[in-house]
Amino acid sequence: MLEIQGLDVDYRSHGGTVRAVRGVDLAVGRGETLGLVGESGCGKSSLARAVMRLTDVARGAIRIDGIDIARLKGRALLPYRRKLQMVFQDSASSLDPRFDMTRIIEEPLRTTQANGAARARRVASLMDQVGLAASLKDRYPHELSGGQRQRAAIARALACGPELLVLDEPVSALDVSLQAQVLNLLVDLQQEYKLAYLFVSHDIGVVQHMADRVAVMYLGRIVETGTHADVLAAPAHPYTQALLAAVPVISPRTHRIANRPVVTGELPSPLNPPTGCAFHPRCPLVQARCRHAVPQLRVAGEGRAVACHLHETSQVSSLCLQEGLV
Ligand code: SF4
Ligand code: MG
Repeated sequence: MLEIQGLDVDYRSHGGTVRAVRGVDLAVGRGETLGLVGESGCGKSSLARAVMRLTDVARGAIRIDGIDIARLKGRALLPYRRKLQMVFQDSASSLDPRFDMTRIIEEPLRTTQANGAARARRVASLMDQVGLAASLKDRYPHELSGGQRQRAAIARALACGPELLVLDEPVSALDVSLQAQVLNLLVDLQQEYKLAYLFVSHDIGVVQHMADRVAVMYLGRIVETGTHADVLAAPAHPYTQALLAAVPVISPRTHRIANRPVVTGELPSPLNPPTGCAFHPRCPLVQARCRHAVPQLRVAGEGRAVACHLHETSQVSSLCLQEGLV
């Protein structure tokens, strides 16, 4: 239902042009969850905002059911706005503090449903679906907990019957116990409404819980994609391996959290990205050619692609996990 092709997003800043998203190709099928994972600052949110047309697209196509919306403007975008909705990380700032719950959730209905009583019934049913007590309908965002606010943001996103939700770090601001509740709610809603999700998170553990397929992003580019099972059970790109190594694992022998080493160093500035493979300054398996040649995303098995020179010559880099290099 969503197909992204050759997507570039640029920002102008004091220091020059930041290429936040570079040549991204992705697709999300009906009812499917694509997990987009990477460190903060890697371009995930820029990609999400471009899909929602909240930020300009420099190059490339964003197709919804085959129609390219990358350059549509104003009213021409309206039908697609209904199909696509977004839930942001920070519900404290994405919900208007001047409005109560009823007004917030019914806002998107105002253009399609003129009858106030019908809107009120729809709001009551949406609140029920996301697990918000009816008694909260007159409350303002600051009178709600973070979990309740995020449920309200989900209810608002569902109001017009969307087909795809772009979820940008939807649980990152919540306590771990609340995270599970909201994730489970999203799973239930997906099953009920056959929703497709583009699920953006820096937390590979959360993506693990949600995604059918996974795409890993590093400094604006997709470095690995594949099914949930392939990417998470046998990560091929050294960066994916490092992200997974950072997820705490309980040792079955000692019942203690094993202290696995994580990727070191900082995400380089997208203003001045490294030459060649952007991961090379941090990669434990770096080779001479990695410093000047950009690895292309290449098919590496069914439904799987990897952008790493090691995989062009089929040298399997799971070595670096075994040897504890990352
Ligand atoms: Fe590491 Fe080279 Fe692969 Fe980049 S291309 S991830 S630097 S081995
Ligand atoms: Mg972000």
